[in-house]
Amino acid sequence: MIYLDHAATTPVPRAVADAMYEVLTDQFANPSAQYAAGLAMKRRLDQWRMTVAGALDCPPERLYFTSCGTEGDTWAVTAGCWQNRRLGRHIVTTAVEHSAVLEACRWMERQGYEVTYLSPDRNGAISAEAVLAAVRPDTALVSVMLVNNELGNVYPITDIARGLREKNPDTLLHTDAVQGFLKVPFSVGTLGADLVSISAHKIGGPKGIGALYIGQRLRSPRPLIPGGGQEGGLRSGTEATAQIAGFAKAVELRQARLSEQLAHLAHIREYAAQQLSAIPDLELIGGGAPHILAASLVGWPSQNIVNDLSAQGICISAGSACHRGKPSHVVAALHLPKRTAGSVIRLSFGPETTEADIDACTEALRRHHDERMPML
Ligand code: PLP
Repeated sequence: MIYLDHAATTPVPRAVADAMYEVLTDQFANPSAQYAAGLAMKRRLDQWRMTVAGALDCPPERLYFTSCGTEGDTWAVTAGCWQNRRLGRHIVTTAVEHSAVLEACRWMERQGYEVTYLSPDRNGAISAEAVLAAVRPDTALVSVMLVNNELGNVYPITDIARGLREKNPDTLLHTDAVQGFLKVPFSVGTLGADLVSISAHKIGGPKGIGALYIGQRLRSPRPLIPGGGQEGGLRSGTEATAQIAGFAKAVELRQARLSEQLAHLAHIREYAAQQLSAIPDLELIGGGAPHILAASLVGWPSQNIVNDLSAQGICISAGSACHRGKPSHVVAALHLPKRTAGSVIRLSFGPETTEADIDACTEALRRHHDERMPML
């Protein structure tokens, strides 16, 4: 199998699976237990939290484990609005956020909030100026992703944070950094966001574990799950120790070779852009992050391309994997001509991706172009 869908999810390295196995079998104690094995597990949990927090450069006590990026996004939107409930009932976000943020915003609309959804330009870009222009005195929360999962565009979070401090310092800023974490270098300090959500399975960790950074401007954050008091009393439930162990190990592995891996990703993306550009009728779209390349084989429906390549053992995606065949809201927001929009595909890369993988994919795309009739 040639796997070019690392923005959907990533393979778990053996060392990550081993770290999880140990915690599932030998070292299985509940970190809340008061005997030696429980206390030892609590110390390990603290260590794993420090590892993940270290990669964000935030204090470990400000990092809360969640079940996934979707949970972190939902919590961030609701907690940000709750914190600023006296400031106002307006949210600024973008039309190209992941459904995790969009659906949380729609839920807030049903609670009486007004949401401004900003559209990108034809290439997926959104400027800090456009975001700041939408901010009003009653804006409780701004939520803008760091890296778009379908296009790879990187959004100017640091500039938005700086502008917000001048225009409306009380407005809180959330960024969904699920696709940016360990792909574009950042720390919560340099970003300046109050809430930052991440997910393990995009960086070689297991599915079913993520984390949310909650900054100190959220003085007493609204608990997501009241109960036994885990995660500082904000997100109860026995900690998913094996998932967390796997998350920390994945972070450790990626961090140990980060600059080398980022250079490799950038090289692979550049190589793929060059190879694909030589295919007739192919247009590249958006871009910025080193691991995502979006393109349109104008006129050839994207789902047919995905099916054809899948039959040859090549995994790419037609827009976000979360949409399963439904037209992507991200592509729709670009307002491209119908034939271009209906033909958008996404290739996304990991440390394991080789030039040979790209060559095989390019060849399959070229054959699809030459042997199939355009239908759009
Ligand atoms: N946000 C972005 C930008 C994503 O790409 C994804 C996953 O595709 C998510 C949030 C959701 O993360 P999870 O799958 O961990 O719920």
